[in-house]
Amino acid sequence: IFSLANLSDALAIRSALERRPQRALLVGAGLVNLEMAESLSRRGVAVTMLEKCDHIVPGLDPEMADLVEAELARHGVAVWKGRSVRTFFGNPDGRVQSAWVSGIAEPVAADIVLVDIGVRPETGLARAAGIALGRSGAIAVSERLETSAPSIYAAGNCAETLHLVSNQPVANALGTAANKQGRVAGENLARVPAVFRGVLNTWVVRVFDAAVARTGLTEQEARACGFLPVAAQITAGARARYLGEEPVTLRAIADRASRRLLGVQAVGGGADKRVDVAAVALTAGMKVDEAAQLDLGYAPPYSQVWDPFLVAMNALLRYL
Ligand SMILES: Cc1cc2nc3c(=O)[nH]c(=O)nc-3n(C[C@H](O)[C@H](O)[C@H](O)COP(=O)(O)OP(=O)(O)OC[C@H]3O[C@@H](n4cnc5c(N)ncnc54)[C@H](O)[C@@H]3O)c2cc1C
Repeated sequence: IFSLANLSDALAIRSALERRPQRALLVGAGLVNLEMAESLSRRGVAVTMLEKCDHIVPGLDPEMADLVEAELARHGVAVWKGRSVRTFFGNPDGRVQSAWVSGIAEPVAADIVLVDIGVRPETGLARAAGIALGRSGAIAVSERLETSAPSIYAAGNCAETLHLVSNQPVANALGTAANKQGRVAGENLARVPAVFRGVLNTWVVRVFDAAVARTGLTEQEARACGFLPVAAQITAGARARYLGEEPVTLRAIADRASRRLLGVQAVGGGADKRVDVAAVALTAGMKVDEAAQLDLGYAPPYSQVWDPFLVAMNALLRYL
């Protein structure tokens, strides 16, 4: 039974794979297990993925998560939603053999189990030093990443940051922010003033043949943050039809009251590019009206005259 948080975990999993497991049980349908589902399937391991919630991939709205689930199913991954592990059973060598899964009468056989049920900021050292934590549970820092203890800085998964759309403190466990924060903290330590403004929780992951990406807020997150969200979902070709269209589905969220763009999710061809464009629009605080007019590049191999991002913005305008 493994989790995958660092290099030694990865090496341990690789050596377990040398025993040629036949069946893998992936507990939790987060980004790491999505990647593991693909890796294990490509090695010929039969993969079953369990998710406690009613849709996979936290960070996507259910309508988009369904597309990811379809991609997993297309590659033979069994996805069981609304189910969790009650207990594991081992063999006399101490290796996992099966799991008792809620709602399933018989134990589910598994030769290897990977657990990906979320991350929490590691704040033990900071707490022991009397350093203040923020509302998110991560270490509270200033824009310069200084903690409540003068001259002590925090960066990466342990440090709290600001969500640039919701304006709320968040614990963001992504390498993109960690790298920038490391630089900012280092500059401040070297007495070169620098600030880290915050994050949009932008990520991208490959799931078999589909790119899956998001930035900003989902519809569910936007509602929880007090916005009046409006969502539009479109599917368009990521390039000219005669070059093999490569469909991409975009779901865009805006605030009905302010017309501000709040977030974009994408699944399919060029999802990364469309979500990165959205990240720029969100950082600039654009209204949908402005985002719908962005001058994006077009040539048949790369886009359509109306890029799917612009199609999504125009679809949103109809609801605002
Ligand atoms: C499998 C996997 C895939 C990922 N893929 C992506 C991705 O594609 N894109 C993305 O943006 N993010 C990704 N992430 C997230 C990203 O790796 C993390 O957000 C990032 O590494 C966090 O950086 P960090 O410096 O806070 O922590 P870490 O990278 O974990 O570094 C912390 C270091 O501190 C060391 N340490 C801990 N305690 C002590 C101590 N007391 N004294 C000294 N050293 C100590 C640890 O050993 C470790 O080396 C992924 C994470 C995982 C697990």
